[in-house]
Amino acid sequence: MSTIAAISTAPAIGGIGIVRMSGKDCFEVLEKIFKPKNPETIENIAGYIIKYGTIVNPETNRVVDEVLVSYFKCPKSYTAENMCEINSHGGIVVLREILELCLKNGAELAKPGEFTERAFLNGRIDLTQAEAIIDIINAKSTREAQESANQLEGYLSRKINEIREKIMDIMVKIEANIDYPEYDVEEVSNKDAENKLKEIENELIKLSKTFENGKILKEGVKIAIIGSPNAGKSSLLNSMLKEERAIVTDIAGTTRDIIEEQISIEGIPFKVIDTAGIRDAKDKIEQIGIEKSTKSIEEADLVIMVCDASREMNDEEKEILSKIKDKNYLIVYNKADLINHKDDDKLYISALNKDITPLKNKILNLFNLTSKDITPSLCSSRQIGLLNKARDNLIKANEDALNNLSIDLISVSIKEAYDALKEIVGLSVNTDLSEEIFSRFCVGK
Ligand code: GDP
Repeated sequence: MSTIAAISTAPAIGGIGIVRMSGKDCFEVLEKIFKPKNPETIENIAGYIIKYGTIVNPETNRVVDEVLVSYFKCPKSYTAENMCEINSHGGIVVLREILELCLKNGAELAKPGEFTERAFLNGRIDLTQAEAIIDIINAKSTREAQESANQLEGYLSRKINEIREKIMDIMVKIEANIDYPEYDVEEVSNKDAENKLKEIENELIKLSKTFENGKILKEGVKIAIIGSPNAGKSSLLNSMLKEERAIVTDIAGTTRDIIEEQISIEGIPFKVIDTAGIRDAKDKIEQIGIEKSTKSIEEADLVIMVCDASREMNDEEKEILSKIKDKNYLIVYNKADLINHKDDDKLYISALNKDITPLKNKILNLFNLTSKDITPSLCSSRQIGLLNKARDNLIKANEDALNNLSIDLISVSIKEAYDALKEIVGLSVNTDLSEEIFSRFCVGK
């Protein structure tokens, strides 16, 4: 494969910047432009070594920058090829000049994601791991980054391969029965196949559920805060934000418009919307706010209804409650600092005292986000699509088994399921698809 080069750091001014090269001839290209302080032949330079020196334009003999170069020798590198990383000062002009020199002296400009694509093509990572790298780069919350790092470690691939093995096991037995019925290979009855397929199907169902969690980690949970005026909605949003962003007043109906904020609970992103309430509006501005509130309630994953713990629920609140009864909702009793008696079955907070831990815990519980166990989880619609394909085929195989269809017909669907799982990890992936995945990376990765 050709030698590729790219600027791997963000295109902005920074302390340092990195130009990366990968490919069989990368050290030869480097040798033409890098003058180390202590020159050595490449054979004598071990991998994982950093050398100090200067980048010099070979045509003009002009020093471009003072640099540190890291050497990685095939196969112990990100791409599993010979690689080097030139750490220069972080100016955009300098980085471009170094890249130009690499290109003039034998390297080609890398396409977006090409370094990672090579890691995949050279078998160092599989496709789920490549997708995990995209997710780590794009992560918006610490939990999402952590989750992606787990998948990069291969948790998902191992699980998929384990399931694949089980399917292979069934296939081998079926094939043996079809091709060598005279041999004494353990007979696979339809009943056996049925049980085993059901077991695998359940594992796939369990795995497909992890996609929802992954989606939550990526996109955040949408929460709408509602309640009658003065219940403490804005104060709750403020204490979630731990800073005074919404204007808190004690004049009823002051949150005229919608305030949407991003918060993070235990590293999980939440989008919280403080609504104008859904009571009858007295003027036009309030009317607009109310329409927006109704929309945000419809779109919310969770509606938090804030009530004032120091008084009974009023008619207005009962009416609000009737409007959200079909939604996923939660009632919190705010101003707990004003009361002495608390009911066991109610959720109390004091937004004013920033005492909202019970609510946070409840939210994490509701979305199954309390566990920090490392589990394999699906992270892309590509993966869930293929997993569902595998599942549908297993269901079909099972139905065929139930209907006593011939075992070789059943084996066709089982094979389809097997192939779909193979595609998740990137074995037998088609070229267009892998190109599409890697194009989602930035240049230099
Ligand atoms: P909203 O209209 O529902 O957004 O209510 P606000 O957040 O504007 O609060 C209305 C009033 O209740 C303000 O004077 C707040 O200081 C007060 N308040 C909010 N939360 C609490 C609380 O937990 N305890 C007490 N004592 N007062 C609170």
